[in-house]
Amino acid sequence: MTFSLKQTHLNETHDPSLKSWVESANSSDSDFPIQNLPFGVFHKGGNGESARIGIAIGDQILDLKNCIKLGLFDHLPEPLKDACTATRLNSLMALGSEPVSLLRSAVSQLLRLDVEQSPPEADVLVAMTDAELRLPAEIGDYTDFYASIFHATNVGKLFRPDNPLLPNYKYVPIAYHGRASSIVPSGMPIRRPQGQRKPPDASIPEFAPARMLDYELEVGCFVGTGNAIGQPIAIDQAEQHIFGLCLVNDWSARDLQAWEYQPLGPFLAKNFATTISPWIVTLEALAPFRCPAFQRSNDDPQPLPYLHSETDQRSGGFEITLEVWLRTEQMQSDGVAPVRLSQGSFSQMYWTIAQMLTHHASNGCNLRSGDLLASGTVSNANPGSQGCLLELTQRGTQLITLPAGETRAFLADGDEIILRGFCQREGYTRIGFGECRAIVQPSA
Ligand code: MN
Repeated sequence: MTFSLKQTHLNETHDPSLKSWVESANSSDSDFPIQNLPFGVFHKGGNGESARIGIAIGDQILDLKNCIKLGLFDHLPEPLKDACTATRLNSLMALGSEPVSLLRSAVSQLLRLDVEQSPPEADVLVAMTDAELRLPAEIGDYTDFYASIFHATNVGKLFRPDNPLLPNYKYVPIAYHGRASSIVPSGMPIRRPQGQRKPPDASIPEFAPARMLDYELEVGCFVGTGNAIGQPIAIDQAEQHIFGLCLVNDWSARDLQAWEYQPLGPFLAKNFATTISPWIVTLEALAPFRCPAFQRSNDDPQPLPYLHSETDQRSGGFEITLEVWLRTEQMQSDGVAPVRLSQGSFSQMYWTIAQMLTHHASNGCNLRSGDLLASGTVSNANPGSQGCLLELTQRGTQLITLPAGETRAFLADGDEIILRGFCQREGYTRIGFGECRAIVQPSA
């Protein structure tokens, strides 16, 4: 079998005139029209069955295992069908972008309105309201980058007013190794961590619940095919190793972070929890929304040769609108809708995801299917685009006033944070990432 698909190329699955016989998918504000088809893992409560791989379509989930049982994908290669019946996405991710593209095409054909005979809905669809969404993959390793120069500069200014950006920033996609075990799916409550904090006027630290609990709005990237140890990935091959993108909330305790982070970087201020959205949007689905890499100013150095590619510079960016919404406990009990704290674009990241992945493997570090790379907090240059409270409230010194008069410097117990992301471009169908949400619970 030969394939010619390039992930930035468009094909019939992107056709904006396509409609689905799943009616909710055709609504103009649905995150999951037939042009999206993101992958996730779901579980139907109470029937003793194991988790299954599904594809979001409108307010429904297409059950891939049942599709295969019914013989709807008989024309697909056996390894691909086997991977679809697993309980996690890792084996599907390991097959690489071309088989996954075949599957996308088959699912698109199956779900389109003008299909000759649609399968019995009850056999292949599960309502999202009847399903529990799980982590989509077994995440072996998690790395968090720092790829927004605006975030890095804003945070740097708070700590080093005269020298906000360190000299390595424009050469190295900075990152730290995070903790995979505490990555949880959207919807699971987050417990406020306890930890060491040393107020500036205290002589010794105390151990207590964090007072400066924050969120970080990020985009996550799931590794598809990995690389062998000792074998770097060339920048022009990098996107072949990416399965797709999701939303990430890198919860952060700023008071713990300030005391512990030197000299080795984030530790307990970050590793107590990371929330991800349950649906992984493939690079193929994102093809209509590609854009150039961030345009560096003339004073900036060019990326070193191993991080530079004409193709990546031309189309390595993603035009994704990202938002943070907050609902406090009081708003929840008053029946008030969440309020938007910020809105920004993923197109303004200093490093592309291909550069981040290439850099990660450049020393021979082996990436594995299901590994998660997160972008770092997404902030743009304009006010109102900052992706965390540390920036929005200037380390808690400028309070945010909410509609009912409540104020926030950092998160309070009972606050719910909701991340949203979507892509919209003239001539194409809008697609979305769904939500990444969680409520903050008091310390144990
Ligand atoms: Mn982060």
